[in-house]
Amino acid sequence: MSNRQAPPPTLAEKYSGVPARLAAIAQDAKDRLYSHKTAPDSVPRRGGLRLPPDTSREAFDEAIAALKQELGQANVVLNDKPLVDGWYLEHPNTHDAFAVIDQEELVSSAIAYPGSTAEVQAVVKWANKFAIPIYPISIGRNVGYGGSAPRVPGAVVVDLGRRMNKILNIDAENASCMVEPGVSYFALYEEIQKKKLPLWIDTPDLGGGSVLGNAIDRGVGYTPFGDHFANHCGMEVVLPNGELLRTGMGALPGKNGADNPTWQSFQPAYGPYSDGIFSQSNFGIVCQMGFWLMRETGHQSYMITFPRDEDFPNIVEAIRPLAQKGILGNIPQLRHVAQELNVTGKPKSHWYAGTSPVPREVIQKHAAQMPCGDCSWVFYGTQYGDETSINSQLEIIKSAFSSIKGFKFFLPSDLPPDHYLHSRALVCSGVPVLRELDWLNWKPNAAHLFFSPITPTRGEDATVVHDINVRLHQKYAFDLFPTLCVAGREMHYITNIIYDRSSDDEKRRAAALMRELISETAREGYGEYRTHILFADQVARTYNWNNNALMRFNETIKDALDPNGILAPGRNGIWPKKYRGKGWELLGDSVEKVVGGGTISPKL
Ligand code: ADP
Repeated sequence: MSNRQAPPPTLAEKYSGVPARLAAIAQDAKDRLYSHKTAPDSVPRRGGLRLPPDTSREAFDEAIAALKQELGQANVVLNDKPLVDGWYLEHPNTHDAFAVIDQEELVSSAIAYPGSTAEVQAVVKWANKFAIPIYPISIGRNVGYGGSAPRVPGAVVVDLGRRMNKILNIDAENASCMVEPGVSYFALYEEIQKKKLPLWIDTPDLGGGSVLGNAIDRGVGYTPFGDHFANHCGMEVVLPNGELLRTGMGALPGKNGADNPTWQSFQPAYGPYSDGIFSQSNFGIVCQMGFWLMRETGHQSYMITFPRDEDFPNIVEAIRPLAQKGILGNIPQLRHVAQELNVTGKPKSHWYAGTSPVPREVIQKHAAQMPCGDCSWVFYGTQYGDETSINSQLEIIKSAFSSIKGFKFFLPSDLPPDHYLHSRALVCSGVPVLRELDWLNWKPNAAHLFFSPITPTRGEDATVVHDINVRLHQKYAFDLFPTLCVAGREMHYITNIIYDRSSDDEKRRAAALMRELISETAREGYGEYRTHILFADQVARTYNWNNNALMRFNETIKDALDPNGILAPGRNGIWPKKYRGKGWELLGDSVEKVVGGGTISPKL
């Protein structure tokens, strides 16, 4: 390929870099992505440094000087240079690289790099003293959900990953580990390989995220340990007042000052199970977290195609008993065939010359020429265990799907080496990769927003949500790329709204599409499991049973733990007292209104 970009950083060079085994793949991915880029790397800042709310430059400078005293000059950096979006492996910690609204709106004023839990405590105490909001990130690759951007413009981002990135322990007997925020899936995987331990990690689609950060945001992966928060065990947390807390068995001191020997073995310990309140919240900064690891085992990935769009509810119905009986060992994915085009990494223009969503018959024409053939839905599954048990599981699965006419079964060996199934096979056996980046070649300057509602695993419910998506994606002229992660009782219906960052029109439509998707699905009784920081208020308001009892409960905790409202105000729609009722919530059409200009930062 011509126009080689500078090589992406490797794991040996940088804690957030890519392992040597993926260096060539990362280089190709970067070259491909940049070949579709038409927007400049950066433009001069119009507004200059963004100060925290209601803070004068003088007061800010005084506060920053004090923070530098705590952390050292080099570990506090002002965010006053041009903003560079970069890409996945060279992502910014200054702003949202996938900015929906003005790039200079969701920005920090400065970035602090604590090097220890004691320094995190010092940062929290500093924030209380100077009344400056802080926003913790681990690696900051929360792409599609706001990246490393703080919700309150001008907050100080606390980038934990740069200096707190140690794997503190891998316990091969207990099959568990303890990590700091800056440990990526890549780093944990490579360490386990280096030590030749018979253990698997569980990775999301892309391996560059923080193991701890992803679990805090309740991200998912694809082995039987795919529910990351459910498979964590024990935390060490700095509270918004600077106090240090250990959860679970960690609260009971080990002998002679050692860590508790069952900290990574038993989750709830005694009394209320407090860990949950530190996920998707702004109640604490997690500085260490334990995780269970899976024992390595045999595995077999496969793909099943179904011919008709109308088969959708029947496929969901067939999956439910298989999942409930435990025949499906992990969370399989059901994808619409539109994604078979997208995951090739080829741009939309390769398939279709128009700007409207690719028509169904055009998708069909191309799919017919591809390994999946002319189909509508594609199921990606993996079975685990020894060969005999995998074979018998596969027979049960084939027999369950035989009620759907025309289904076809493929093993990786039936498909060409560059087919997506081969990368699924890696992800589903705990090997972190980069393949999912290829989505972003769909449009020039591509960015994406995830819309992620939960429905019961029932054909009827899945159809309601799917039909809303089909209709609204058409209305706002976006291609629909649904991926359903299907468990026994619920499914995550995840759509990826891909837009061109350089087009205000596309961003406005993407924001309007999100707004309508959130409200229409909520009217039917379905809610999101996770969302972009700009839509957090809207989503939080849909969980409003009994006069917002849940949010009032969250606010009570927030005000008790964080009376000065310094920690990540607004995250997940939870606003501290200081901000409430002052116009900070982004509701109705307020996101699309500020696309292209305008502020989300009213006076305090
Ligand atoms: P990743 O790199 O895994 O994608 P991030 O570092 O972007 O994860 O974290 C996702 C989100 O979770 C952040 O935006 C932040 O709000 C929250 N978060 C991340 N790390 C912590 C932490 N250590 N303590 C508290 N909240 C955190």
